[in-house]
Amino acid sequence: MAERKKRIGFIGLGVMGRPMALNLLKAGYPMVVWNRTRSKMKPLLEAGAEGADSPREVAEKSDVVITMVTDSPDVEEVILGPNGVIHGAHPGLIVIDMSTISPTVTRRIAQKLAEKGVKMLDAPVSGGDIGAKKGTLSIMVGGPKETFEECLPIFKVLGKKITYMGPSGMGQTTKLCNQVICALNIQAVCEGLMLGAAAGLDLKKLLEVVTAGAAGSWMLSNLGPKMIERDFRPGFKISHQQKDLRLVLSFASELKLPLPGTALVQQMFRSVEAEGLGDKGTQAAIVAMEKIAGRRLTEEKQ
Ligand code: NAP
Repeated sequence: MAERKKRIGFIGLGVMGRPMALNLLKAGYPMVVWNRTRSKMKPLLEAGAEGADSPREVAEKSDVVITMVTDSPDVEEVILGPNGVIHGAHPGLIVIDMSTISPTVTRRIAQKLAEKGVKMLDAPVSGGDIGAKKGTLSIMVGGPKETFEECLPIFKVLGKKITYMGPSGMGQTTKLCNQVICALNIQAVCEGLMLGAAAGLDLKKLLEVVTAGAAGSWMLSNLGPKMIERDFRPGFKISHQQKDLRLVLSFASELKLPLPGTALVQQMFRSVEAEGLGDKGTQAAIVAMEKIAGRRLTEEKQ
């Protein structure tokens, strides 16, 4: 007989959480949902999920609670806050936090939950809103290994590359490494394109040829064309990128580790935020490059 599907509680139905929850519903998982802004629960309720009045109620009604909110204080609030998951927790409950937050805060939350007999996994993701919709995210997981194995069928609905990274906090640590590599890649794309522009190259041809060689990367393929077209509509917002770089730099200072390139890119992004572009996609990093170069990359649409 097939094993009963776990009842999932989903908290945080934003750009990422909503499609992830919908994919789990489509895969046949019974679900109870909660979102701070209640109107965002509607598509899930229409697809068959039950609505709850608080994270606490979600926990009472679930075998596994998934959180997909913004930052460390937000995860603390929905899990440990006055109406949080911990107050509806029952022994055996599993909490999976898929937001990108601090590894140190993650370990603290996991410890508090463990005191109530609740196991926690940190399972941040990479792959953006497109990966969330297609169920092709990369998922990096920290926490007890047996809990990871128990939750693997759930992760397989959400992602295509799922990797166990070690004890609590190691999933978040992996995600922060991912963000360092992404941020410096964006800066590399900006500088390479700007050199081409200043020297009078055809930027579309430049992109075409270097994408196929050793400089090829996700950032170059996906953000390079948007920089040239000045299409700054967000996939991943600069404000979220800055949250992640703040987490990276604070974690690196706990480790007394210098990350000079990351610190520079954070300042470049800050100057884009100072232009009022924090809600634009990370490809708007080119605006900072343009300011210090004293020229535009291209003169196409704004
Ligand atoms: P989003 O669209 O801004 O959604 C954030 C969600 O968190 C919303 O449902 C929001 O509720 C909820 N929330 C925030 N603070 C809360 C609080 N204090 N209490 C209760 N609910 C709260 O963000 P997102 O793009 O889905 O990102 C979610 C997480 O995934 C972030 O940690 C982000 O860094 C990470 N991530 C994002 C991407 C991406 O491409 N977008 C990729 C990988 C990882 P309201 O609706 O009430 O505001």
